Amino acid sequence: MPELAVPTIPEEGSPEFYMAEALKLARQAAALGEIPVGAVIVRDGRIIGRGFNSTETDKDPTVHAEMKAIRQAAAELGGWRLIGCDMYVTLEPCSMCAGAIVLSRIERLFIGTMDPKAGACGSLRNIPGDERLNHQPELIYGVLQTECQAILKDFFRKLRQVRKEERRSVQ
Ligand SMILES: [Zn+2]
Repeated sequence: MPELAVPTIPEEGSPEFYMAEALKLARQAAALGEIPVGAVIVRDGRIIGRGFNSTETDKDPTVHAEMKAIRQAAAELGGWRLIGCDMYVTLEPCSMCAGAIVLSRIERLFIGTMDPKAGACGSLRNIPGDERLNHQPELIYGVLQTECQAILKDFFRKLRQVRKEERRSVQ
């Protein structure tokens, strides 16, 4: 039996397809020198919210990718309940974003790669999985994990390089 070719472009409507859209946003963040994280919110197959991290540019600690995507989706739907919506985010959400995801009633949360330092969806704690809260989004891990990990690694490697060169030029 011939081996199946690995598709380079994910099939439209698949989790990989939407995560690839989130990765495009993460790349926009990286281009601005921001930690590259991107998020999209999908309802009935349509992207209704997009966001990328811009805390440095906006000088605002709350403008994470997920928060911006939630605000946009709520504006689009005309209400704060994101019923029937799924979120795709390249990096495991922090405590703030995980809280907002529960509050907004997102149904399914697709995560690219985990954040052992600040993640609140299984790493440090699991806010969406806390049954004491009145809503638990379903969690799906590891969508395009390699790509989501690579964009962060690449960003921090370049950042270290820049800092090293800065130190050299000072001496
Ligand atoms: Zn966050």
